[in-house]
Amino acid sequence: MSVAAPRVGFSTDDAPDPATIATCVHCGLCLNECPTYRVLRLEMDSPRGRIQLTKAVSDGHMSLTSPTFLKHTFRCLDCRACETACPSGVKYGEIIEDVRAQTVQAGLLPKARRIADLVLRHVFTRPQALRLLGQGLRLYQRSGLQWLVRRSRLLHALAPPLARLDEMSPPMSASFLQASDLRFVPAEGERRYRVAFLTGCIMSLSLADAHRASLRVLARAGCDVHIPEHQQCCGALHVHGGARETARDLARRNIDAFAADAYDAIIVNSAGCGSTLKEYGHLLAGDPVYGDRARAFVAKVRDFSEFLAEIEAPAGSAAVEREVIYQDACHLVHAQGISQQPRDLIGAIPGVTLVETANPTICCGAAGLYSATDTEVSLQILDEKLDAIEATGARTIVSGNPGCILHLRTGARRRGLDLQVMHLAEFLDSANAAE
Ligand code: SF4
Ligand code: SF4
Repeated sequence: MSVAAPRVGFSTDDAPDPATIATCVHCGLCLNECPTYRVLRLEMDSPRGRIQLTKAVSDGHMSLTSPTFLKHTFRCLDCRACETACPSGVKYGEIIEDVRAQTVQAGLLPKARRIADLVLRHVFTRPQALRLLGQGLRLYQRSGLQWLVRRSRLLHALAPPLARLDEMSPPMSASFLQASDLRFVPAEGERRYRVAFLTGCIMSLSLADAHRASLRVLARAGCDVHIPEHQQCCGALHVHGGARETARDLARRNIDAFAADAYDAIIVNSAGCGSTLKEYGHLLAGDPVYGDRARAFVAKVRDFSEFLAEIEAPAGSAAVEREVIYQDACHLVHAQGISQQPRDLIGAIPGVTLVETANPTICCGAAGLYSATDTEVSLQILDEKLDAIEATGARTIVSGNPGCILHLRTGARRRGLDLQVMHLAEFLDSANAAE
């Protein structure tokens, strides 16, 4: 970890608000809901501990460059389970994201995150560059080279961090679905709604079939679906990683691309992206040109499940005799307050039995790039989740977030479990296809 010259306190741009920090009354009710505290059992890896560390820096009692401060703040998943648990309404997400923006401004990113930061700034901001990266990864994965590298354990011997990255890298789809691949899907039957669809970054390359299923489900529900040409990555990974200015740039470009007035809703089928799009108003609050436009944009953003529930889209009528676990994505349940809508959509399919795991709203450990940058802790958290899933006996897991789906699939592969992990859209689509 790089340690610059001693620097006490935060700088003025994007500093955590002392008034927000002061809303924490140290009750500790969030501790057992915090995934890192549950596996590490350290106060400094709890929400309360991290808020105390932030207060110490804010008050000038600790340096922003303190290795202790950096270590524990970057171990946070930004899952926001602590916000749901907190009776005082502490806006923890704002605090931790401000802290990370400060560390990036000061050039204090931990080593493991520096490469990710470069890729986020220079590749995720250019859809064509992202596509090239996806094509390279797909060639590596499908040519047999990845199989050979894993079997030989060459990377484990030569470069263990690269071996971890290889293990956590998402499998690429056979065919991508970015805005340049498809621009419009007409409603089936009478058009009831005109909506815009976000393709995002990782999902368009790694879960393109979930995108296709989403488009089919929306079209069946009477939506003309437009996929605006100049849309960008939403900037969620940038906000979580502290690259606040890059996120703002992406937000402005998306606001221009989506022209929110033209649509009944802007549909997002990724929890992390939806939560960030809904926070564009906060991200661009001080922007004299985009501040108002961001608020109008946010008013149109809907998670895929939220929109289907709102328009009372009919469920498939064919029976799907299966026990199904719905895995709450943190950025749906904690950041957007959405947990019942996807359960209702799944439960409306005849024959489905919804099964709940122990602690269903605890993170699976994916958390954007966390599984690649903090793999050990991420896998410990995943273990708790897989134990809870195994205990139910159900073998179909449905979720509304690409990170959760990919991480649970990785966990199932590592344990040799026969789990089917699907996006909600794929599950709803398959129920329709069974008719
Ligand atoms: S965001 Fe998640 S990992 Fe971070 S302190 Fe809150 S509960 Fe813990
Ligand atoms: S964040 Fe909320 S729940 Fe956690 S210690 Fe502070 S006041 Fe209590």
